[in-house]
Amino acid sequence: MIKKVDHIGIAVRSIDEALPFYTEMLKLEFLGLEKVDSQGVKVAFIKAGETKLELLEPTSEESPIAKFIEKRGEGLHHVALGVDSIQERINDMKEQGIRMLQDEPKVGAGGAHVAFMHPKSTGGILYEFCEKKGLK
Ligand code: ZN
Repeated sequence: MIKKVDHIGIAVRSIDEALPFYTEMLKLEFLGLEKVDSQGVKVAFIKAGETKLELLEPTSEESPIAKFIEKRGEGLHHVALGVDSIQERINDMKEQGIRMLQDEPKVGAGGAHVAFMHPKSTGGILYEFCEKKGLK
C-alpha cells in the first residue's frame, strides 16, 4: 500500500534563487537537476532524510507550475505518496469516488510512474501517487 511520503513538491520561480536556502541554510544535500519536458518543468531534488524535496521551476508559460505560481504564488505544490502497484491504487481510489487527474500513470521526474488526485476530492491537497519500480 502506501509506503511513505516519497517527496514534497514546491513551486518556485527560480531554482537558482531558491536552492541556497536548502543547501546552505538548511544544509541539505542537493541530489540533482532534471528537465521534465512533458510537464514543462525543471526539477531540483533535495534529500531530507527518507523524504525528498522537489523544487519545481516552470520552463514555459503553459506549464501547470507557471499557472499555479500565477494564481497562488510560490510554495507548497503537492505531496507525493510512494506506492507499489500504482494502477491498483488509482483504481481503488476511483472505486471510492475520488477524482483522479490521470486514469493511468504517466512518467514523471526520475522515470517514476505518477498520478495525481484532484484536490477537490482530498480536502484541498494535490496528492501524487508515485511508484519507482527498480528506481531509487
Ligand atoms: Zn512529485
